Amino acid sequence: MTCEADAISAVLAKVAPLKVCTEPLIDAVGRFAARDLFAGRSLPGFDNSAMDGYAVVAESCHASARLRVIGEQPAGEDRGLTIRAGEAIRIFTGAPLPAGADAVIMQEDVTRDGTTIVAQCGMEPGEFVRRKGSDLAEGQKILSGGEGIAAQTLALLASQGVAEIEVGARPRVAIISTGDELARVGDQPAPGQIFESNSIMLHALTQITGAEVTLVEHCGDDRERLTETFRRGLKGDALIVSGGVSVGDHDLVKPALRALGAEIDLWRVAIKPGKPFLFGHAFGCCIFGLPGNPVSAFVTFLKFVRPALLKMMGATEEHLGLRQVPARLATKVTNDSDRPHYLRGELRAGQFTIVGRQESHALFGLSRANALLRAAPGANFAPGENVMVELWA
Ligand code: AMP
Ligand code: MG
Repeated sequence: MTCEADAISAVLAKVAPLKVCTEPLIDAVGRFAARDLFAGRSLPGFDNSAMDGYAVVAESCHASARLRVIGEQPAGEDRGLTIRAGEAIRIFTGAPLPAGADAVIMQEDVTRDGTTIVAQCGMEPGEFVRRKGSDLAEGQKILSGGEGIAAQTLALLASQGVAEIEVGARPRVAIISTGDELARVGDQPAPGQIFESNSIMLHALTQITGAEVTLVEHCGDDRERLTETFRRGLKGDALIVSGGVSVGDHDLVKPALRALGAEIDLWRVAIKPGKPFLFGHAFGCCIFGLPGNPVSAFVTFLKFVRPALLKMMGATEEHLGLRQVPARLATKVTNDSDRPHYLRGELRAGQFTIVGRQESHALFGLSRANALLRAAPGANFAPGENVMVELWA
């Protein structure tokens, strides 16, 4: 049995970033920049008004000052206006600041009387002015290679006039569930059968991670049929198999993979849940064999498959793990097993509460959870103790 840290290292050692591709911005969200990017333009690109109001010379704008309105500067064009002390120019949010102006008085702070305004307050230089380059300087780094691209990153890129970006390719992933006891959703389960529920979860997790699901199939516990199904599943970058990796008579995933010439890099990891986890490769495709119990499949996906897919997508090391956040434990937690235990719970308002039964088949509790607590062997946490938990939602 491999320890958790060695297992994750072994998986990541076998996985390399895929090729780089150029994508329109909207297709780059959730992916990872292929290289460092630098601002081609400063932000703001020119001094402009933060308010609807009047551009003024602050020195001449005190409470009850009368200023002569000499023109209007709308947003979206530059009329090349200039003002002097004692004058004002009607201006709107985002409009270029006229030459000579150093502040904008809000329209709420003046009374207008024909071509004159009367200020109700004094102004300091710079008030309600957005200076060129105050947000971002030209040449400043805006994105590091291997960093994730979020919706707001897209806005930043668009503000630079950038329409496309180089990102790591999305891994193509096949998902194959196994087990004679499983009925497809939509079919009538025979007595003793249960509905197959892992493939839909793994499909969603794979998509949320940013990879592309190219095949989802189910196969019974039959070695030859498994071999044939796996052959189809090995055409992409990763194959995720659910079930059949344990030690029972019907656990035929390993022999079926071996029949295809696959190499098994590791089998059985010291974590709970998830001990039967298998990792191997064949034809340039990574193979993840996840235990069939739904909670085990979920946890081993997050711990082993997700980092591997992210690495394929070009994420750098610091972006491969789940987000760790501090939490206060609601209850006592102990682990008297010899494997680290990932407990499922809900993190809310800084407090982590274990939810549901902590057995590997117990799907309801998992469905209500949003975070994992890793309890190392021998852990003994008291209620109220501060711990780190890992968030997936
Ligand atoms: P296995 O890893 O194949 O020995 O399966 C362990 C347990 O998980 C058994 O109780 C299975 O019925 C259950 N299981 C396996 N695969 C699935 C699946 N795709 N959906 C729901 N339960 C499953
Ligand atoms: Mg099975």
